[in-house]
Amino acid sequence: MPTYIVLLGPPGVGKGTQARILAEKTGLKHVSSGDLFRENLKNQTELGQLAKSYMDKGELVPDDVTINMIKARISQPDCEAGAILDGFPRTPAQADALEVMLKDFNGAVNTVPFITAAEEILVERAGGRWTCRAQGHIYHEKFNPPKQVGVCDIDGSEVYQRDDDKVEMVAKRIRVYIEQTMPLVEYYRGAGVLAEIDGAQAVDNVTQSLLSALDKSSKAK
Ligand code: AMP
Repeated sequence: MPTYIVLLGPPGVGKGTQARILAEKTGLKHVSSGDLFRENLKNQTELGQLAKSYMDKGELVPDDVTINMIKARISQPDCEAGAILDGFPRTPAQADALEVMLKDFNGAVNTVPFITAAEEILVERAGGRWTCRAQGHIYHEKFNPPKQVGVCDIDGSEVYQRDDDKVEMVAKRIRVYIEQTMPLVEYYRGAGVLAEIDGAQAVDNVTQSLLSALDKSSKAK
């Protein structure tokens, strides 16, 4: 049976960073809805243009488009063993749709690590975040700068600040998260798959907490 992990938490808490590390450690594919939208934008697809109009305002892209994009992605052969979902679902309608689509793959959401941190930490992390243009590798101007300013250590592409990582936009995205995504905490707690993780810890310690939560949930099954 495939394994699906949903990383839940506010913008800037470190979901992308941790998803990449977990993907390496577990061999599961990292599927980030934000990265998929940004890739569409880079390739100037119709979906990218549509998503941009919402992303620029710090708002959520409509559920139907987002759900279809994720469904297409996790249907690919490289997700046969499952996936680490980062940034999806973000609304109860997306969570319901995910449940239905995973049934088609004979799977279900196995674990939902819910990573939290105080708002000041989120603003500091997202506000100082720099992202690699080619593959979305993540840096922080203070905590984890690339070796050469503006250049990704891993693939040599340009490292830039996302428009929606500017401080005013981060605050708006946190508000959207509280209103539209927070209900998923109770949704997944009710399903018995939620694991609370302290995202204020150093990156390595968050990874350790995540790995032990995944281990615990796989033993419980
Ligand atoms: P992220 O990279 O996860 O911070 O996402 C960046 C932006 O992409 C968000 O602010 C939304 O505009 C859009 N987005 C990403 N994931 C979703 C989703 N699951 N539902 C709706 N919009 C999303």
